[in-house]
Amino acid sequence: MMKSPLSDAYSVLRDVTPLKYNLDCGKLCGNKCCHGSDNDGMELFNGEEKLFENEKGFTVRTDGDRKILICSGKCDRKKRPLSCRMYPFFPIPVEKNGTVGIKVVYDIRGFSSCPIVREHIRPDPRFLRAVRMAGLYLIRDKKNLEILKNTASMFDELVSFSEAVKRKDECNEKKL
Ligand code: SF4
Ligand code: SF4
Repeated sequence: MMKSPLSDAYSVLRDVTPLKYNLDCGKLCGNKCCHGSDNDGMELFNGEEKLFENEKGFTVRTDGDRKILICSGKCDRKKRPLSCRMYPFFPIPVEKNGTVGIKVVYDIRGFSSCPIVREHIRPDPRFLRAVRMAGLYLIRDKKNLEILKNTASMFDELVSFSEAVKRKDECNEKKL
């Protein structure tokens, strides 16, 4: 039964993990993605902040229109926000013939810290399907579609930036 885009997205990601056989990828890296600073945080989707209003160990920060969740670095897995449930993958909206679909990509923000992203480790297909489904649920809400599109643009900028740096490094190496 359809509930809300948010609760549907939460439920589809409840029992899946990025690696096959439900392996804990935190053992690969010492849970690096949970050890950010207070300047890091997870962007919340529309309405998601209400789920964390009175949750111990979580603070919601506002950045313009964006709501960012700051955590203590440890949490009850059942209470993780959507960003953490989908990480290290992300659902990118793609428009074709007037309809919006979802393509799942590695979350490029994890390139330097997450071995799954850096090494392009193949995820459990069930996890990819769940992230895609979560994306499809989220885009039923216009504000969430906007959040996904903004993140997709930011990924494009990061890719362009890292390609520009790589080209500059190659030029400098040639000069040496
Ligand atoms: S950084 Fe990557 S490998 Fe490590 S726990 Fe997070 S998602 Fe898993
Ligand atoms: S909310 Fe939980 S899963 Fe997400 S970064 Fe914080 S401790 Fe890790």
